[in-house]
Amino acid sequence: MDHPQKTPHGGGRGPRFPARIQLAGRTVDLGAVRDNPASYARLFERARSEVGHALCLCRQPSRLRLVIKATRAGRYHVAGWPGEGEQHLARCPFHKIAPSLTGRSGYTSEAIKESEAGTSIRFAAPLRRQLDPPTPGRAPRTTDSSAGPSRRAVSLLGLLHWLWEEARLTSWEPGESVTWRDCHAGLEMQASTCSINGQAGDSALHIVPPFRPESADRNETELAAFEERLGRRGSSEYRGLILGEARAVEPTQFGARISLAHQRRPLFASAALAERVRRSHPHVFSDAAGPSARRIALALVDRHPKGYLTVSSMALMLTSGSYIPADSSYEVRMADHLIAARRPFTKPLRYDAANEDAFPDFVLRDTDPATYVEVYGVRGREEYERRKRVKQRYYRDHGIPVIEWDVAAVIPDVSRVSAPHRPGSPRTPRTA
Ligand SMILES: [Zn+2]
Repeated sequence: MDHPQKTPHGGGRGPRFPARIQLAGRTVDLGAVRDNPASYARLFERARSEVGHALCLCRQPSRLRLVIKATRAGRYHVAGWPGEGEQHLARCPFHKIAPSLTGRSGYTSEAIKESEAGTSIRFAAPLRRQLDPPTPGRAPRTTDSSAGPSRRAVSLLGLLHWLWEEARLTSWEPGESVTWRDCHAGLEMQASTCSINGQAGDSALHIVPPFRPESADRNETELAAFEERLGRRGSSEYRGLILGEARAVEPTQFGARISLAHQRRPLFASAALAERVRRSHPHVFSDAAGPSARRIALALVDRHPKGYLTVSSMALMLTSGSYIPADSSYEVRMADHLIAARRPFTKPLRYDAANEDAFPDFVLRDTDPATYVEVYGVRGREEYERRKRVKQRYYRDHGIPVIEWDVAAVIPDVSRVSAPHRPGSPRTPRTA
């Protein structure tokens, strides 16, 4: 079934860390396994039955366990052991950001549940609605908010962040260039091994495939199959999720049209929803983000009786041209700046965490301890200034090196030779 040109993880993103893993006592190259999992199926089966797991060799001689998972199509792959991601070398594909640096840790264990069979996600909005017995006058629940200190369900934005982080699209390595094809391959892998509200992830979620003339027909068929699963079936009504890059949100006679990159057919939304999305994501629509910025949309959709897809709720995420998430147009600039300086970095994602949960804007992984990057954009707002001071004090007290950019000033030099400064201390000019 795999397209011969489809090289999910091996070739797509440019030079990568040459990771080696051990399957049933045999050392194999991870890139080769990921490019051609079928030829390693026997080895996977043996590893699963005889050892129970695979091993990552990034930190030789110590060996870190890897979970062996099978997609619903019977394709094997390996994933990091839950809770051990931080122990892998920063450049290892199984490395994960510290739990304190991701909003993922704010959920209860029921919201995102990991097991050998895959990850099961409790999504905050129902994907299936019982039509029997009819409840006239009751509108379907479209809210995806899940407030509270410990979150029991994942919102649209939380799901988008989970997919992005798991597909390792929050990290950049020198020499990498990321295309939508890479994003699609990584996201598909996550979708095919997770379930969302009990439904198979790749059936509930359609990830817009990259457009190529030779695969255009197949893409259309895939989209049609997804639409076929929506709408009324028996006494239930099904909704789905669609993930793609939003190109434009334009008004129409009846509401708004959302065009997606790589897909000919747009999504439709009511004018009220389009306005709500625009208001709740001001930075996403800001022109200041520059021409390279992208807008990734995850939409909860229904099938209209006339055949098109209507959006009932949508999360948007601003990213740099390299698909690195950014919380503001300034962060897009900083991500580009870090890439230009060839610094390996990770963007912590908030998921459904509250504003008070402070995460650094970026984490540089080539210093020990890691250097945090803070972009200070808002000035004069008391609450923001207070949080900024709390952050600075925390970093100072814990000896965390920080590169700070107050956006009213010139963007700082982030090249490796310029030493990060301690927050709150005067910046020493770099002597080149
Ligand atoms: Zn590793």
